[in-house]
This record gives sequence, C-alpha cells and structure tokens, in this order.
Amino acid sequence: MVPQTAIENLKKHLRGQLLRPQDPAYDEARKIWNGMIEKRPALIARCNGAGDVVNSVKFAREHDLTVAVRGGGHNIAGKCVPEGGFLIDLSGMKGIRVDPTRRIARAEAGLKLGDFDRETQAFGLATTLGIASDTGIAGITLGGGYGWLAGKYGLACDNLLSADVVTADGKFLVASETQNPDLFWGVRGGGGNFGVVTSFEYQLHPVSRVFGGAVFYPLSMGRQAIPAFHEFATTAPDEISTFIAPAAALGGTPATGIAVCYCGDASRGEQLLARIRKLGTPLADLIQERSYVEMQSMFDDLFTPGRMYYWKSSLIRKVDEGFIETALEHAKGMPLTTGTFIYMQQLHGAASRVGISDTAFPRGGMGVVYKAEDTELGRFVA
Ligand SMILES: Cc1cc2nc3c(=O)[nH]c(=O)nc-3n(C[C@H](O)[C@H](O)[C@H](O)COP(=O)(O)OP(=O)(O)OC[C@H]3O[C@@H](n4cnc5c(N)ncnc54)[C@H](O)[C@@H]3O)c2cc1C
Repeated sequence: MVPQTAIENLKKHLRGQLLRPQDPAYDEARKIWNGMIEKRPALIARCNGAGDVVNSVKFAREHDLTVAVRGGGHNIAGKCVPEGGFLIDLSGMKGIRVDPTRRIARAEAGLKLGDFDRETQAFGLATTLGIASDTGIAGITLGGGYGWLAGKYGLACDNLLSADVVTADGKFLVASETQNPDLFWGVRGGGGNFGVVTSFEYQLHPVSRVFGGAVFYPLSMGRQAIPAFHEFATTAPDEISTFIAPAAALGGTPATGIAVCYCGDASRGEQLLARIRKLGTPLADLIQERSYVEMQSMFDDLFTPGRMYYWKSSLIRKVDEGFIETALEHAKGMPLTTGTFIYMQQLHGAASRVGISDTAFPRGGMGVVYKAEDTELGRFVA
C-alpha cells in the first residue's frame, strides 16, 4: 500500500539496498537460521549504518508499517522477520573496534559471536556471549546473554557499557549509565522493544586459554549423573560454567552429556573438573585445555543453519525426582539424531548476583537456576 514514489525516495536515501519480493536478492535476504521460518516481508532495508536505520524507522512511521529488526537472525521463533511488514536488516553491519588499553570493544549490531570472539581474542580479551558462534551479538545482548564466562563476568548485558539506539520516533540516542539511563536499563535484558540498537560497547576481560569441553556418559547413568551434576553446579566456583544434556546422541548412542568450561588457570581447572569426569566410565571425554575461540565454536555442528528447529524452554529451581524421571522418560523416546536433545543450563555466580531491578533481566536472589530446553528437528513435531 506504500506509494511507489515513496519507495523510490527511500531507496535514494539509503546507503544499503532496499529489496522487494520481485528482487533477485529478496529470497536469500528473508531466510534466517531456522529453516522452519517461512515469512515474507513487504520490504527489506539492508542497512549500512545508523543513518540508514534512522531513515528506515522514519519511513515505517510515515507509512504505518509493522517493523522487525534483524541482527544475527537466530531467534528460534523468527521474530526478526515480519510477515508482510518492513524488515530492518542490520546483518551487514559488522564493524568492530577493540581498545586494548581500556579493554573495551565497540561492535555494530550485525556482528555474530564468532566474528566478535576472533577480533577480541587477537588482543587476548573476551566478554560473555553465547555458546554457538553463528548467534548475533544484538539479540543475545538485548535478551540477557548467557555463555561460558557468565559465572565469572556476568551476562552479556551486564558487560554492556553503552548502546547507540534509534528510537521509534527516529531519534538517535546514546544509552549508558549517565546518558538516558532508563533506556540503558531496558536494553539490558528487555529484548528488542526499546528501539533499534545500531552498536554496542562492551567491557572486555583478559581470557585466552580455558579448560573445558564435554564428557559423555551412557543415558542409562542419567539417574546418578543429574543429581551429581546438580551438586557440582551448585558448589562450583564462578570460573566454572556448565550445562547438562540428559538426552544427547553421541554418534547414534544415547548419552548424557555434560559440557563445562573453567576460565582460569588450566591446572586448577583440571583439578576442579575431575569430579565431573569421574562419575562413571565415560563414553567419551573431550575435556582439555583449549583456546577460548575453540571452546566457543565447539558445539557449532549441533546448530547448523537452515535445518528445521523447534525449541521450548522454562526455568527450573529444583532438580527433584519428578523432574529427573520426566526428563529421562522423554529422553528415552527421542530420536538419536544430531541436534535433538534436552538440556539444562545453569545460571550462577556473577550472573546471579546482579540486583533484581538493576537491569531488565531479573535474577536477583535466585541462586542457581537452570533453564531447561528441548530441541527437536521440526519434522518430528510437524
Ligand atoms: C543455536 C542457538 C544457540 C543459542 N545459544 C545461546 C546461549 O548460549 N546463550 C544465550 O543467552 N542465548 C542463546 N541463544 C538464544 C539467542 O541469544 C537469541 O535467540 C538471540 O535473540 C539471537 O540474537 P540474534 O541477533 O541472532 O537474533 P535475531 O533473530 O536477529 O533477533 C532476535 C530478536 O531481537 C530483535 N533484535 C535483533 N537485533 C536488534 C537490534 N539491533 N535492535 C533491536 N532489536 C533487535 C529482533 O527483532 C528479534 O526480536 C541461542 C540461540 C540459538 C538459535
């Protein structure tokens, strides 16, 4: 319903491309990580900078268009693609600058975790981000952001120092502790509802080698492994972040996998992780000293882009008999394919000590909490 002249006018003002359904690049541009998402926006602005975002937001206002913003395109439900609306696509905005002296990185919103880690690791620095290197820094930071460094350094949003934001009225604002602090509160865990973030400024920390990986036990050991894991996770120091997958397939064998990372001195890490590596006879033990980038991309094969994914998740405060029985019962019936599993991710340490109202991501006083997710290929639930 938008007049052709208005579309032509926007095109002239953008540095990036403006795509419509008849354009050859349109189909590729609307695809995201989850192959199950099949949505068709009316227009796609592939932005090259904050100016393109300001122009796009103003255009959407003038023509009353539904907007969605794409960072890395990893949201399971495909929330970054609006059916029949206007997609503001930031995936081409991948600039990053590290200031090694101040230990700060300024990164544009289209960057993915793998890009970010590789750049910051060249300086021996890192900050908390997720466990799959294809995930976007934008969605993960705006939604909280749990990863291997969370116990020691807090969530991704806890390491955010400032953000450049284009608000719904087309204004460009800086959000930080001192500038627009209410907006800064919202972008730390409140999701994408406060405006379009064009770049993020992060606090970095010295990290290079870590001690971590995964150990796999037979699925039949789940009844012993889950409580032992719970005890381990509850008493672990901040440097240890971990998750358990009570149903994971290891080369077609039903297994209980425990993934873990110790971000500190390797010999201390080896000592501390011995407990979790000796619960029984493992099917495989892949825990060792490795580079942080290697740790960050270790599970990428489980999350290949383009496959059909379906996930559900919820918070668990108590790992009791009922939970263990239910998880294992479901685990037994699951297909033994890569990418099909139930997993529980622990929230603890620095990530759990932030006050409940300090950011839009509430967790104060929670102690150790797990997020349980099951992931299945779409075809099994269709
Ligand atoms: C394989 C996989 C592994 C994951 N692992 C982890 C993990 O270890 N830890 C963790 O915490 N999470 C994890 N997640 C969840 C992930 O962090 C979220 O799905 C996140 O939203 C993805 O960010 P994105 O930029 O790639 O997503 P997108 O799909 O591009 O965006 C997600 C949401 O944020 C909005 N948005 C995106 N960019 C902007 C922006 N610049 N300004 C305003 N709004 C914006 C979108 O409109 C959408 O609503 C994982 C997800 C997947 C698929």
